[in-house]
Amino acid sequence: MENFLYYTPTKVVFGRGTEKQVGDLVKEQHCTKVLVHYGGGSVKKSGLLDRIYVSLEEAGISYVSLGGVVPNPRLSLVYEGIGLCRKEKVDFILAVGGGSVIDSAKAIGYGMTNEGDVWDFYEKKRAPKNCLPIGVVLTIAAAGSEMSNSSVITNEEGWKKRGCNSEYCRAKFAVMDPELTMTLPAYQTASGCVDIMMHTMERYFNRVDNMELTDGFSEHLIRTVMKNAKILKEEPDNYEARAEVMWAGSLAHNGLMGCGTDGGDWASHQLEHELGGMFDVAHGAGLAAVWGSWARYVLDARPERFAQFAEKVMGIEKGTDLLETGRKGIEAMEDFYRSIDMPVSIHELGIEPTEEQIEKLADKCSFDRQRTIGCVKKLDREDMYKIYQAAR
Ligand code: NAP
Ligand code: FE
Repeated sequence: MENFLYYTPTKVVFGRGTEKQVGDLVKEQHCTKVLVHYGGGSVKKSGLLDRIYVSLEEAGISYVSLGGVVPNPRLSLVYEGIGLCRKEKVDFILAVGGGSVIDSAKAIGYGMTNEGDVWDFYEKKRAPKNCLPIGVVLTIAAAGSEMSNSSVITNEEGWKKRGCNSEYCRAKFAVMDPELTMTLPAYQTASGCVDIMMHTMERYFNRVDNMELTDGFSEHLIRTVMKNAKILKEEPDNYEARAEVMWAGSLAHNGLMGCGTDGGDWASHQLEHELGGMFDVAHGAGLAAVWGSWARYVLDARPERFAQFAEKVMGIEKGTDLLETGRKGIEAMEDFYRSIDMPVSIHELGIEPTEEQIEKLADKCSFDRQRTIGCVKKLDREDMYKIYQAAR
């Protein structure tokens, strides 16, 4: 087991009707003015936003609002948010939505508390030294941003999608009412489930052995999400299944599944970010589209790990040929993705990239040959190109 730091400062308020507590939760933060940040309208349609306003007003909290966050959240709105927060002297941001809204809130929070251009942090030119405090009312189980140290933003200039990690942006509280996720379209529910599984799998596929407890948590979490994703396909209003998936989403990405690992292999996420930036796909669906091609490409570097995954997660009998067992595990996971109507190729995402676009994806993902990705197998620009080709 590797040394690790486990830091989860987020207060979780979980269950039916918990959004009514949001005014009191914000009040506990001793702030004077709140930015209520939200997306493209689902929270208006469901009436959630009005309930949030009522709760804030009852607690005597003054606020301003900024909606319009889109999936793969944009830098231009982040700049607009920073401008608004400066003008209104905002000292707390309440994100009402999913990963996109939360990540946009975190970026605004960085911009409010650090000098210079906030995009520098996403380009890794500098590291943020602070963030405004953030609170979350979660409406989709997926990204895990409600407890993670991460934020992912897309810069429309060049359509670059980049992440920034720091402990400063961890949410002060996260309100999670599984009922709020019942209005999700089936595609978003499934895509969210894939993202949750992938946050666990990208930590699980690492180069460390002997992690009984963390491996066990991870294997069980993935199986739990698979089981409940299938239930939700048939019964989107099943509260227990919504609740299991929602809690899994937070635990998959708050650090618990990485304790004792070397951090894992995030190549699939990095490959997907370029798809998201260039083609604006739903994040989880993009992950499902590239994962199998990545897994087959790196299988021979860690056959014993893939065989363990096949046996413990996918229920495949472990044969003597670890490569063969591993391959069966990968195929079984792709079958599962298909079963919940998720794509297992870029073509199935509804995109037919040209040769030039595949080259461009590999250029962008390698930062023009300036970086490698992954740890199971270190991947350079040519490897990335081959994986995109295989996923086509
Ligand atoms: P999302 O992009 O926040 O939301 C996806 C869609 O679901 C939106 O169109 C949204 O519509 C809709 N939606 C959300 N809640 C809904 C509800 N209750 N009912 C009906 N529709 C609803 O989804 P996400 O998967 O949570 O976030 C994806 C982003 O997070 C990506 O950019 C990804 O790269 C990033 N990400 C971040 C982390 C991290 O740790 N920070 C980790 C993984 C991924 P409205 O806009 O109308 O609300
Ligand atoms: Fe993700």
